[in-house]
Amino acid sequence: MTGQQPIIVLKEGTKRERGKGAQSNNIMAARAISDAVKSTLGPKGMDKMLVDSMGDVVVTNDGATILKEIDVEHPAAKMIVEVAKSQDEECGDGTTSAVVLTGELLKYAGDLLDQNIHPTVICGGFKLASDKAKEILNKLAIDIKPGDKNTLKNIAITSMASKGASSEKETLADVVVDAVTRIAEKVGTKNIVDLDNVQIQKKQGGGIANTEIIKGIILDKERVHEGMPKNIKNAKIALVNAALEVKKTEVDARIQIQDPTQLQAFLDEEEGMIKKMVDKVKKSGANVLICQKGIDDIAQHFLAKHNIYSVRRAKKSDMEKLAKATGAKVVANLDGLTSKDLGYAGKVEEIKIGDDKMTFVTDCKNPKAVSILIRGTTEHVVDELERGIHDALSVVKVAIEDGKMTAGGGAAATAIAMGLRDYAPTVGGREQMAIEAFADAIEVVPKTLSENAGLDPIDMMLEVRSAHKKGKKYAGINVLAGKVDDMIKNNVIEPLRVTMQEIEASSEAATMILRIDDVIAAKGGGAGGMPPGGGMPPGGMGGMPPGDMEY
Ligand code: ADP
Ligand code: MG
Repeated sequence: MTGQQPIIVLKEGTKRERGKGAQSNNIMAARAISDAVKSTLGPKGMDKMLVDSMGDVVVTNDGATILKEIDVEHPAAKMIVEVAKSQDEECGDGTTSAVVLTGELLKYAGDLLDQNIHPTVICGGFKLASDKAKEILNKLAIDIKPGDKNTLKNIAITSMASKGASSEKETLADVVVDAVTRIAEKVGTKNIVDLDNVQIQKKQGGGIANTEIIKGIILDKERVHEGMPKNIKNAKIALVNAALEVKKTEVDARIQIQDPTQLQAFLDEEEGMIKKMVDKVKKSGANVLICQKGIDDIAQHFLAKHNIYSVRRAKKSDMEKLAKATGAKVVANLDGLTSKDLGYAGKVEEIKIGDDKMTFVTDCKNPKAVSILIRGTTEHVVDELERGIHDALSVVKVAIEDGKMTAGGGAAATAIAMGLRDYAPTVGGREQMAIEAFADAIEVVPKTLSENAGLDPIDMMLEVRSAHKKGKKYAGINVLAGKVDDMIKNNVIEPLRVTMQEIEASSEAATMILRIDDVIAAKGGGAGGMPPGGGMPPGGMGGMPPGDMEY
């Protein structure tokens, strides 16, 4: 064999890590991500200030948002970011918990790997544990009575507890529950909620308490001309995706004019063209025009003369919402505009909100169209409020669709951990160790909630476990009172689907990462960012300078 040429299989510059090295690096990278968001969990969690490369600042407590904003380099860390994304898409809430749980599962799996337990055995044990966990969770679930708005409100409040808006939770929860129950539909025997029917409009200025529900659509636009009526009753609305302007030529053209009459004729011609466009709108019978493109001065003048309330440069997404709400069709060419394309709303009016004027389209043909107008003192407050409302809308939707809830505050997690510890010996073998590890890992939720609230996690865990042993199956960490308490009685409740999905997403991601024993990264590929053999210490995002948040 001596003197044999090495066989080169991989391209030059390809980085490769194998076996234990690859596994421990992947685990460390994934844990670094989960540790980064851990301190934000729960009502007493801290916020993060994120600064992007453009210097824009986001202050948030939302796991999915944090992970979306930071640039993650390591391939395994990217998989954790996906966990947050899928949790967000499925339930809109529980993103931090899902990520923290994945990190914790990997931590315990790492300990088992160190004891020379094969990854396949760990994955097998995790699968058994997650199935059992879901079974236990299903048994703990409580039915939500149809039309029980109070329960829905408490679910909304629990989801918003950690977001900046805590002080006005009641008002916001009322707005959210009102909005979602309005758009809920019964299809067959199922309740369906399509959150696309809820429009979110933000306006800074005014207090959070001024946030309100509007039965209709709000456009962040004023009417284009002072001479137009300020409000229209029985509005017939034209939605146009074409400019009411004279078309500019693609090439630079020059017109030679010999005398003033020619100039006048040219201007008259232009005016005539615009007038024809406005006449087409008028002829269709519309008294409101919402235009996605521009409306020039002359067109504004004619529209005002015809008393047509007009708005220009409306957003595409708003046009779609308006079409759905009023039954109008978006027309791309004015020639094709007829009375059939018009939509209907009882009222269209311009209202001053703060310093700005907005257009309110209310009493729409489709009563299911609702909007939430979010108010708050600064841009950052309004943005974080929007994320809180997104979470609340999502959990109320899920609660209505599934009709089942569980106790929050780590109550469900504790019950699952206890159940798994009873179950593990019945399985036996090395899988038993993995199931026990799963049980230890899932307790990260009550532990972290306690830690973030400044409580001693060890004391709290002993107390909450002993409460469960005594049959108090909804005992959890009441972080506001700083003690173990019945979470159902304290109205800390969550939809079943959120916890279910947390378990599912985290155990799947952990399993997937554990199965990897070889990372082959092309030149410039993700693993390039890994220091050789080192990996990242699982630490916070502490002293990292902005724009350099690589893991
Ligand atoms: P996530 O992104 O996972 O939803 P949050 O920061 O929103 O993270 O925190 C959610 C956790 O906080 C859940 O476990 C929930 O049960 C818990 N929680 C919410 N309100 C309370 C409360 N009043 N007391 C204890 N725990 C609470
Ligand atoms: Mg939440």
